[in-house]
Amino acid sequence: MRTHPDACPGAVELHQAADGGLARIRVPGGTLSAAQWDVVRTAAAELGSGVLELTSRANLQIRGLTSGVELGARLRACGLLPSDTHERIRNIIAAPLDDNQALVDALDTALCSDPSLAALPGRFLVTVGASVSGLGGDIGLVDDALLLAGTDTGVRVDDPVDAVVTAARLFQELRGTAWRLSEVDGGVRKITAHLGTSAAPRVTPAVTPVAPSPVTPGVPLGRLDAGQLPGTALRLTPWRSLVVPPGTDTSGLITDPASPWHGVSACTGKPGCAKSLSDVRADARAWLGTPHSRPVHWSGCSRRCGRPAGDVIEFVATGDGYEEIR
Ligand code: SF4
Repeated sequence: MRTHPDACPGAVELHQAADGGLARIRVPGGTLSAAQWDVVRTAAAELGSGVLELTSRANLQIRGLTSGVELGARLRACGLLPSDTHERIRNIIAAPLDDNQALVDALDTALCSDPSLAALPGRFLVTVGASVSGLGGDIGLVDDALLLAGTDTGVRVDDPVDAVVTAARLFQELRGTAWRLSEVDGGVRKITAHLGTSAAPRVTPAVTPVAPSPVTPGVPLGRLDAGQLPGTALRLTPWRSLVVPPGTDTSGLITDPASPWHGVSACTGKPGCAKSLSDVRADARAWLGTPHSRPVHWSGCSRRCGRPAGDVIEFVATGDGYEEIR
């Protein structure tokens, strides 16, 4: 039982981190026009520390802000903040190589149009597409299959937008203080009963990361500089990588699966996070070059923020070095 509301930051309601205000900008489907990306990176340079962080939900974070007011105004003007009331629940991860942004936009619009859904927790997550179906969405779509809490219950839908909004409403009605559908006693069963099943479950939720290439470059430790990729339309992936147009200058990004940076991630660590027991980014850099067959994640404390889904080797700071978790 959760005893307090989630504290997920938004684009206007900042989280006060050790290095200043932190804004999280929801980017449903991860798609940014060139003009929107220029607004965000310019805001990071002018209002924050000049760094943009990619999150494991394909959202963006700006750090070192003194206030969210000016950032909010800029985001509203370029269409990245269509709803002040619903902004923290606009978490929609879409398979980044699929043609699905129109569906994502329709879902986003419908979710933001229902006043009751503003009360959903900031952890609420919708996934669209097979390759992201294993990322722990409360609600997921894979073709006509509707997944609930990461499971195919056999619900098949003709109108995916209506089905997702209906499931989201039911989750909100049932959830009490829970943050995720998986935490609600009987939640999946009750929503399934309401929607009705029409097929035997057949979808096995999957996580299929995009491999680095010149058009799907990885972002080292998930951090972009505000000067990178000017005037570029891009799509953020939940694997701290991007989809960019052919011919884009990818200097400083990971385009080769053999790169030592590939598969290495880290939380914020010192000095940005007051809880951190070490400068995990510096330690990850120093470690770079050590062969690793699986993704590796570095954390500054036992909360292990930003740990990628799936089979990961972890280094967790203990204050006296790192505990290795395999
Ligand atoms: S894992 Fe710990 S140190 Fe790292 S960002 Fe989260 S709270 Fe901070």
